[in-house]
Amino acid sequence: PQVAMIPVSALLKEVVLLTESEALMKGCEINFYPLQEEMIISGDIKQMKQVVLNMIRNAMEAVTDKIDDSMGRIELGASREGAEVRIFISDNGKGMDICTLDRLFSPFFTTKENGTGLGLSVSDRIIKNHGGCISVSSRVNEGTRFVISLPLIQ
Ligand code: ADP
Ligand code: MG
Repeated sequence: PQVAMIPVSALLKEVVLLTESEALMKGCEINFYPLQEEMIISGDIKQMKQVVLNMIRNAMEAVTDKIDDSMGRIELGASREGAEVRIFISDNGKGMDICTLDRLFSPFFTTKENGTGLGLSVSDRIIKNHGGCISVSSRVNEGTRFVISLPLIQ
């Protein structure tokens, strides 16, 4: 792994650029909230991008799978909490039941026909290796919010 200083705003912007057109084709929009201040984390930029990308892809799949046909909406942003940054990825997609929430981070757990079930287990490992953690809250048919907490470079 290549360790470097990573500005959180640039990281998120780049992932939005990578996913925006795909989202629009699927009829969903990505709202990126500009950060209030610059925040720097230390780590492997490729791995960090992979984590956020995975979560946005999951969110896109969740909004295209939802039962009502309201507009799919994904929200992405970050804020400082003391010495940490909290990066959030929210969607108004199909949400998760308790059984899914319980097994979310297990390798090979998937509810998708063509899923690998590896995205979140790999993401969890990457974030833990960077001294952080991932939390999630979700409601069936309402949506899901993932929060990635990571230590900031002071
Ligand atoms: P995969 O996407 O290949 O299924 P993941 O590890 O990325 O594997 O996700 C595991 C499971 O977690 C998914 O199959 C899905 O059931 C659930 N999941 C992940 N993100 C979301 C989300 N944003 N909304 C609803 N369910 C989700
Ligand atoms: Mg996935």
